[in-house]
Amino acid sequence: MAMVAHKKSSKTASHATIQKLQPLVKKYFFLYAIILTMSNDIILLKQGEIILKGQNRREFEKRLLENIKRRISPFGKFKVYAMQSAVYIEPQDGSDIDEAFEALKTVFGAVSLTRAAACEKNKDAIVREAEAYLGETLKSVSSFKVESKRADKSFPMSSIELSQYVGGALHAIFPHLTPDMHSPELTIFIEVRDLAAYVHGPAQRGAGGLPIGTGGKMATLLSGGIDSPVASYMMAKRGASLVPIHFYSHPYTSEQAKEKVAALARKLSDYCGRLRVEFVPFTRISEEIRKKSPDGYVTVIMRRFMLRIAERIAKNHGCSAIITGDNLGQVASQTAEALIAADECVSMPIFRPLIAFDKIDIMNKAREIGTFDISSLPFEDCCTVFTPKKPRTKPRLSEVLTIEATLDIDALIEDALVNP
Ligand code: ATP
Ligand code: MG
Repeated sequence: MAMVAHKKSSKTASHATIQKLQPLVKKYFFLYAIILTMSNDIILLKQGEIILKGQNRREFEKRLLENIKRRISPFGKFKVYAMQSAVYIEPQDGSDIDEAFEALKTVFGAVSLTRAAACEKNKDAIVREAEAYLGETLKSVSSFKVESKRADKSFPMSSIELSQYVGGALHAIFPHLTPDMHSPELTIFIEVRDLAAYVHGPAQRGAGGLPIGTGGKMATLLSGGIDSPVASYMMAKRGASLVPIHFYSHPYTSEQAKEKVAALARKLSDYCGRLRVEFVPFTRISEEIRKKSPDGYVTVIMRRFMLRIAERIAKNHGCSAIITGDNLGQVASQTAEALIAADECVSMPIFRPLIAFDKIDIMNKAREIGTFDISSLPFEDCCTVFTPKKPRTKPRLSEVLTIEATLDIDALIEDALVNP
C-alpha cells in the first residue's frame, strides 16, 4: 500500500461554500461556527460498535468525544465533534496533527481513522483538493482508483459517476497513472457528507472496542507477568475503566519489581487514560500463610487473600467487578477446582478474559499492545517467591477453610490496607 503524503493547508471554507451550505446552516445553526473555520487537513475517525447502540448511543458518543479530547490535549487545540457515525478532529492554529493522529490509534471506540482534506461539495473542487492533498503520493505510484461514498444523498451525482469523474480528471493531470480497479497501488476515497466533501487515502485500523468508561469501573489484579496486563487491556477495550492493584512483598521482592508494575500501568494508560496503581504490602500475609498452611495449599490461600483485599479496594473505588489474568490449565494453580476454591471468599464477580486463550496468543497480544518487553524484565513477583513448586491441583474447599480458621483474616487484611 502506498504511503500517503499529506499536504497541509490552513485554508478556510470559501464564501461560496458558506452560501451553498446556507440551508443546512438554518437547520443546524449551531454548526455555523464550525463551517466558518473548517480546517482543510483534519482527522476523520469512524465510530465502531457505538453505531449499533440504540437509546444509549448519545451517551457512548459523548464518552468517546471526551476520551478523544483528553488523549490529544497534549498536542494543542482541536475542534472535536461527531456527525453521521464519524468523529471530526480539526487542528486549530499551531496544533500537531501528526502527533494527535498517532495518539488516536489507541483510543477505544474507533474502528478506523484517516487524515482527510475537507473541501466544497462540488466535483471540480473535489478534483482540485485530491490533486493538492494527494498529489505527491499520486506522483509516486503507478496505478490508482477512486472510491466514493455519499452520506449526503442530495449530491447530484451517484457514487460511481463521481468516482469516474474524479478518476478521469486525475488521470488527465497525472497521465503516468494506470487506473486499476482490482489491485491499485493507491485508492483515493471521497466521502460526500453533510458539511463538506472529504478526500483521503486508505484509512488505518483503529483500536476497536468501546469507549473507556462505558463499561463501568473494575479493579484489575496487575502482577508483573505477561497475562494480567493483557487481561486488563481486553476489559478496558470493552469499555471498563480500571483501578489496578498490585501486591508486593518487600524485602523478598525488590523496588524494581514495583517499578515494573508502574511501567506496565503507564503503558496501559496509552489505551485506558491515567491509571494509579494501588500497591498493597503482602509480606506479612504470605509469611503467615506459609507458617500455617501445608505446601499444596499456599497458593490458593494467597489468591483468596488477594481477592478479599481487592474486593475491599474495589468497593472503595466504586468498582463492580475484579479482573485477573488467570488462564485455565496454564499452571498447576489454575485448574477449575483451584479457581473455584479461590472465588468462594468474595461476592463480587471475577472476570478472567484470558481463561480460554493459548499462551502463545496471549504473548502475541502482549507484543502488539507493547507490554511484553516490560513484563519480560526479570524482577520476581511475590507469588514466585512464596509459592511451592507443587501446588494442589484440586484443593478441597473444606481443607482451605480449616487452614484459614487458624489465621486472623480480618486483622491481616486490615494491616495490609492501612500500611501501604
Ligand atoms: P501473570 O502473567 O498475569 O502474572 P500468571 O500466569 O503468572 O499471570 P499467576 O501468577 O498464577 O499467573 O497469577 C494469576 C493472576 O493473579 C494474575 O494474572 C494476576 O491477575 C493475579 N496476580 C498474581 N500475582 C499478583 C500480584 N503480585 N499482584 C496483583 N495481582 C496478582
Ligand atoms: Mg504471575
